[in-house]
Amino acid sequence: MTSQVRVRFAPSPTGYLHIGGLRTALYNYLYARQQGGKFILRIEDTDQSRFVEGAMENLVENLEWAGIEIDEGVTLKDGQITQVGDRGPYIQSQRLDIYKKYVDQLLDSGHAYYCFCSKDRLDKLREEQKIKGQVPRYDGLCRNIPREEAEKRIAAGEDYVIRLKLPIDEDITFHDEVRGDITINSNESDDQVLVKSDGFPTYHLAVVVDDHLMGVTHIVRGEEWLSSTPKHLILYRALGWDIPTYVHLPGVLNEDHKKLSKRQGDVSVEDFRGHGYLAKGLVNYLALVGWSPDSNQEIFDMDSLIEAFSFDRVAKTGGVFDKKKLDWVNAHHIKDLSLEDLAQLSLPYMEEAGLLKEEEAKAHWDKYLVLMKTIQDGLSRLEEIPGQVAFLFEEPSLDKEAKEVLENPCLPQIIEALRKVLEPMEELSLEEAGGLMKKVQKESGCKGKNLYMPARVALTGQVHGPELSNILYLLGKDKILSRLDQVEENLK
Ligand code: GLU
Repeated sequence: MTSQVRVRFAPSPTGYLHIGGLRTALYNYLYARQQGGKFILRIEDTDQSRFVEGAMENLVENLEWAGIEIDEGVTLKDGQITQVGDRGPYIQSQRLDIYKKYVDQLLDSGHAYYCFCSKDRLDKLREEQKIKGQVPRYDGLCRNIPREEAEKRIAAGEDYVIRLKLPIDEDITFHDEVRGDITINSNESDDQVLVKSDGFPTYHLAVVVDDHLMGVTHIVRGEEWLSSTPKHLILYRALGWDIPTYVHLPGVLNEDHKKLSKRQGDVSVEDFRGHGYLAKGLVNYLALVGWSPDSNQEIFDMDSLIEAFSFDRVAKTGGVFDKKKLDWVNAHHIKDLSLEDLAQLSLPYMEEAGLLKEEEAKAHWDKYLVLMKTIQDGLSRLEEIPGQVAFLFEEPSLDKEAKEVLENPCLPQIIEALRKVLEPMEELSLEEAGGLMKKVQKESGCKGKNLYMPARVALTGQVHGPELSNILYLLGKDKILSRLDQVEENLK
């Protein structure tokens, strides 16, 4: 019987969720769901100096926003961090006793040793190696200190770390689901520190112990960990544990094919949320950065991703994060929103732009839904909404192109006709607005481009834009008339 798939996302709580991290979490999640397995969230906080208050909450919240459900590990309940599952704790700083047990085992079996080298000595060593053009690495000075002597030095109060005793000059081969067989010689690695002088384990020790004890079957993570894998394998061997399946994912790159980094702009999931990318849009696009389906389908929801995903179609080389493509994908998902959902999502943007408060929108909700319908198909991001609806709230300002349109000799007739047909009307219903331009055509004798272009520019100041009948309805009789007056005034 094959065992149940168990995967984990294991971020360090350093402040925000990078979109590369979200993609790693997503691939783990897709695989877990597809295989009927479990998705675990473990927090790797052994580097206490990098800990950021609130980072854990932020991580979980962003994963949940993206639609990634945590089966086991760290999660949120009523806004508070909580842990679920019977293989916890899932926060590494709460597992120190567990690591100690395995470190003792490694020391006893001779796979680890105490090291007393001072920072000064290590710095000097590194300098000398650099001058000689060598790769800086620990020279193994403390490798052969007898255990008894080491323990005496510790009892006497000397500072120490515990290092992994790597085999010398051994080819370590492992299989990676994306890259195939990989061989790295042990001499390319260092005698890795497993326990730091503050008594905390390093990532390398903790990750192996936790993945084993938490029953992780597939380690799906960024390729920056590929070169560490031999050290991890040595640890698995030393502890007598089965080796999980490795899946190293290519990086997420910027358009210059460099690692996407904070210095060049948006990288955190929150940045993208703020711009008004939908969770569905971001998840859909991220899935395609570094993976491709075996069809040319590009629009996916979570369920269809779960169905289509496979490691053997993950790329070996980094995927470029293309914002234009992201916009295009996101636009699809915005088009798929119900008007009600779009309207709800738009409210914070409207409020922030100072255009409309929630209560005001709610007071004319049906009309507000028409406004949403009017702009929906032209949106790539929710942050564009205020700009798209500004025609309704702000008096039109005319650019050069708009002014040229207004030079159309039909304009005076159109203005006159609009006034005339509006005169007997009370307030415009959507249906009446729909029939209005036909009447204006009859009345003015202008049609086609000569009718619609000047009318649109006169009313909105924009040369292109949404359906004119919707604009008429949304503006309403009074605003239409006052804008006509305004145009006449401007053209005098
Ligand atoms: N804590 C590591 C990180 O933040 C996780 C590496 C791993 O998945 O093994 O990248």
